[in-house]
Amino acid sequence: MEHLRTLVLNSTFEPLQFTSSKRALILSMLGKAEPLEFDGFYIRTPTKSFRLPTVIKLNRFIKRPFRSYVSFSKKNVLRRDNHTCQYCGHRGPELTIDHVIPRSQNGGSTWDNVVTACRKCNLKKGNRTKEESGMKLVSRPGRPKFLFHSSLPDQTPASHLKSWAKYMPRVYIKL
Ligand SMILES: [Zn+2]
Repeated sequence: MEHLRTLVLNSTFEPLQFTSSKRALILSMLGKAEPLEFDGFYIRTPTKSFRLPTVIKLNRFIKRPFRSYVSFSKKNVLRRDNHTCQYCGHRGPELTIDHVIPRSQNGGSTWDNVVTACRKCNLKKGNRTKEESGMKLVSRPGRPKFLFHSSLPDQTPASHLKSWAKYMPRVYIKL
């Protein structure tokens, strides 16, 4: 049970962070949060058993903690884009970072101008804009609000991932 995590949503349904499922259960029992999703995991005491929530929603709005702002880095761009080329959808290693508006045309290294691209697409696009090269983005880049938590245990059940996906924007979770 120690490895189970629960997704915590703000009162506005915005994802905030992961917490241990035990803590999520306690928050629910104390009336501080409302459990929204379950997927069949229980915690058992000698006399009782409790369903472990996979998603809880806080009853009070909390200001976004500082740590949930995602810093701009190549690694985080790759994670935001789910390690998928944003031009052709290719997934895999050896992905590069592409400036949508090229640096030579004053395109900045910012969340809304940098995307994951495979080598082939990056080469094809070269120093041109996507219009100049006739290429299309599969999604519009932007600052992610929330990223897959790097400390999430590997043994996280698939059913958990599935129940989280509903509440999290497309790319921030590996399915
Ligand atoms: Zn590609």
